[in-house]
Amino acid sequence: MSAKTFDMIVIGAGPGGYVAAIRGAQLGLSVAVVEREHMGGICLNWGCIPTKALLRSSEVFHLMHRAKEFGLKAEGIGYDLDAVVKRSRGVAKQLNSGIGHLLKKNKVTAIMGEATLAGKGKVTVKTASGTEELTGKNIVLATGAGARELPGLEADGDLVWTYKHALTPKHMPKKLLVIGSGAIGIEFASFYNTLGADTTVVEVMDRILPVEDAEISAFAKKSFVKQGMKIMEKTMVKQLDRGKGKVTAHIEANGKVEKVAFDTVISAVGIVGNVENLGLEAVGVKVDRTHVVTDEYCRTGVDGIFAIGDIAGAPWLAHKASHEGVMVAELIAGGHPHAVKPESIAGCTYCHPQIASVGLTEAKAKEAGFDIKVGRFPFIGNGKAIALGEPEGMVKTIFDAKTGELLGAHMVGAEVTEMIQGYVVGRRLGANEEDLMNTVFPHPTLSEMMHESVLDAYDRVIHI
Ligand SMILES: Cc1cc2nc3c(=O)[nH]c(=O)nc-3n(C[C@H](O)[C@H](O)[C@H](O)COP(=O)(O)OP(=O)(O)OC[C@H]3O[C@@H](n4cnc5c(N)ncnc54)[C@H](O)[C@@H]3O)c2cc1C
Repeated sequence: MSAKTFDMIVIGAGPGGYVAAIRGAQLGLSVAVVEREHMGGICLNWGCIPTKALLRSSEVFHLMHRAKEFGLKAEGIGYDLDAVVKRSRGVAKQLNSGIGHLLKKNKVTAIMGEATLAGKGKVTVKTASGTEELTGKNIVLATGAGARELPGLEADGDLVWTYKHALTPKHMPKKLLVIGSGAIGIEFASFYNTLGADTTVVEVMDRILPVEDAEISAFAKKSFVKQGMKIMEKTMVKQLDRGKGKVTAHIEANGKVEKVAFDTVISAVGIVGNVENLGLEAVGVKVDRTHVVTDEYCRTGVDGIFAIGDIAGAPWLAHKASHEGVMVAELIAGGHPHAVKPESIAGCTYCHPQIASVGLTEAKAKEAGFDIKVGRFPFIGNGKAIALGEPEGMVKTIFDAKTGELLGAHMVGAEVTEMIQGYVVGRRLGANEEDLMNTVFPHPTLSEMMHESVLDAYDRVIHI
């Protein structure tokens, strides 16, 4: 069988891989993308998109309960869990089929099958109908990541769930334990808690959402507790005893172990890169724990092999994967793209209230030796927030006192995931405090708080 030859072979069609393939084809490269399961990867099928569809249902449910506040009547409010899940799966399916169309439109050869590196420039693909050999000068590894499983806390799909089970529940948990308070754990905790599950979140670090600014974590915690969630920090789940319809969790805090019964556990303790069975050793690609080692241009050190997205390490975010995909395609096509800077990539958590941030936290800025100026603005001081009935939240900005550089921005509250991009653009353009203060923000918008926070850092705040 003769091998098909391409300029660029992409393994994995998640937001890293399919975007790299499309950009490569736009630049005139002949491109093949190999996908073993589903176009769009985790992001479209089991991650970003279906979680946001579920969270939208819980958000509407929450708002329906507040109908009276808005002068409206809503009676007999309830939900149909199967219909909530069906909508979420439908949204994922709609977008998934769109990827096939985009690849076709861009003349990318899409192959459904499992790919393995078979030597320099060689890829073997196991498809439903046999084996295909591909050759290419450039290979882009975009195989993503899966859920991390801790010994004893492994998912079984019945009592203990990973994100895949949590996205397709057959029943509503009555008493739910979420292990891990990163974005994934907190989003599921928020969804299930809003729909009525008695929810406990256990976090081993000293605060929930540990990568966020400490003030934002504290704000979010207060809000979640007000909504009825139990939050246990500096706490560890040591063991899960599985019984009939019940799991007893051994929860350790301050050296003491407490046994608590739950009917459902969601394990959200991180992810591991899909590096297994890819043939990485055969071609000399280096792996550190479960991630491929790369430089800032996603080069693996082996000529013609790149790694992008989740398999290449943190931050594990779809937009980072896509941006790296574009960068690598441009590099392969002979361009001179900018390296992707992790510190300029925003992180968003779509819980209620939402959380969004970019750049350094206050603690990290101090640790790095910056003399800083900090601005804060509360949602309660913003007209649009009051009109929306969303007075809970804050915007925090951190500047280098010497240069006025925006070092970090951190927000909690309604729609902050839509607003953070304003600061990201500012950082990308090298905006300083003057540029941000001289920018006119439309009124009434929540974004005015972004302006006020900057003004506050320089003692010029107007509305508080
Ligand atoms: C519950 C959840 C919620 C999330 N929410 C967000 C969010 O709101 N925002 C955000 O930015 N990120 C979110 N993420 C993270 C986001 O999904 C990932 O960062 C993103 O999908 C990574 O993209 P990727 O292209 O690197 O990998 P993936 O999306 O994982 O895609 C990799 C693809 O490679 C395929 N593959 C693997 N091995 C092979 C092989 N040998 N041959 C062929 N194909 C192969 C896989 O089937 C998969 O389709 C979430 C993740 C989860 C789990």
